[in-house]
Amino acid sequence: MLSNITNENNRCLQCKNPFCEDGCPVDTPIKEVIGLLKENKIKQAGEMLFENNPLSVITGLICPHEDFCEGHCILNRKGNPIQFGSIEHYVSNYYLKNLSFDIKADPNKKVGIIGSGPAGLTMAIILAKKGYDITIFEAHEKIGGVLRHGIPEFRLPNDILDRYHELLINMGVKIRPNTVVGPVLSIDDLFRDGYKSIFVATGTWKPRKLNIKGESLGNVYYAIDYLRSPLTHNLGEKVCIIGGGNVALDSARTALRNGAKDVKIFYRRSEEEMPSSENEIKYAKFDGVKFEFNKTPKEIKDNCVYFADTENILNEDGKPELKTIEDSGYCYEADSTIVSISQGPKTNIVDSAKDIKLNRLGLVIIDSTGKTTREGVFASGDVVTGAKTVVEAVAAAKLAAKTIEDYIEEKYNL
Ligand code: FAD
Repeated sequence: MLSNITNENNRCLQCKNPFCEDGCPVDTPIKEVIGLLKENKIKQAGEMLFENNPLSVITGLICPHEDFCEGHCILNRKGNPIQFGSIEHYVSNYYLKNLSFDIKADPNKKVGIIGSGPAGLTMAIILAKKGYDITIFEAHEKIGGVLRHGIPEFRLPNDILDRYHELLINMGVKIRPNTVVGPVLSIDDLFRDGYKSIFVATGTWKPRKLNIKGESLGNVYYAIDYLRSPLTHNLGEKVCIIGGGNVALDSARTALRNGAKDVKIFYRRSEEEMPSSENEIKYAKFDGVKFEFNKTPKEIKDNCVYFADTENILNEDGKPELKTIEDSGYCYEADSTIVSISQGPKTNIVDSAKDIKLNRLGLVIIDSTGKTTREGVFASGDVVTGAKTVVEAVAAAKLAAKTIEDYIEEKYNL
């Protein structure tokens, strides 16, 4: 591992205009970090990464690097980019192990953070470091959001999230687990109790339905629910997965690690059109996941799923359209089915705070700085953008953190 890191570091050309940095949503100073490592300054490199992105130990592991830094690296033109993700993870892991703070939070500067996924964690770390008095409200029993309750442990070990828990406690952050804001505590309650600002970072946890017959049968599950606790699901040996994104791939690979013998993903378009990352598709194939393309489900039965064939056509306006071919397809025998066709936000919070406006997809509307339509309430991450990536949630939370600071300073003179 270490020789791989040092090799990658030495291979970096230290370009005058580092395209890798242009490709990073959170503007990681890649060239400078590698420059420090070339001078054997790992602590400074770790600090630089953490200050820019408090979750760098995580993004180093699970960013779709091929779309971001590595995809933009000049050496990628010859198909051999610097694997900055490995460097980022190694250095950040080293740095995080020895990180601690001595902070005294100012009780007048209370900020409530709803949700402890990447957006909420980023906000908590940035503001706690600056002396804000932070409370995180988290619906689950442990922090992490999708990082803990979605992404499987073989891709992102939970002990990393346990370390973030310890770090937050060390920083004086208060965490209220098993607390869903909305049904009992409301945004109004939080303002009543002295929170100067509230940050909504609740992600997208409502599975999208197929709306076909059979979806409520006892052996049909939604991917986001399955991934939350795979061991509580009895999938049987032959599993059918419907959908073509990273969540479908994670479900398939998790099922194979938990007793399933034969797992097949059905996607309604072609392989080239799959929304999941190329690397994740490779890993899934390596793990033994099978695929079928251009198939759309019509009905789920107790022991099989009926699929019809699809094809891409040009409609009357000359626009490409996916068409289901009538009287085509077959019934695929399966012990269980996992539906993974994306997620949307739940409405817990806005049900009790109507002045926070949503768009037609149910996503929270913000301005370009992270302000929602209710004064003092800010939002970012998937609940604003729909399902995206960890690094994009971090970048958006950084921007919103600056907006919250400015707001509290201006409004309360603090
Ligand atoms: P989330 O991570 O969803 O966190 C929201 C938190 O809010 C949760 O902890 C939830 O319990 C809590 N919450 C919700 N409602 C309430 C409430 N009313 N009160 C209190 N708490 C509440 N991205 C990558 O970059 N790389 C990957 O490899 C990758 N793989 C993924 C795999 C899966 C299975 C999934 C689902 C997503 C994946 N993503 C990946 C996307 C990435 O995880 C998300 O974009 C990111 O987690 C969004 O962060 P967030 O903070 O907005 O929301």
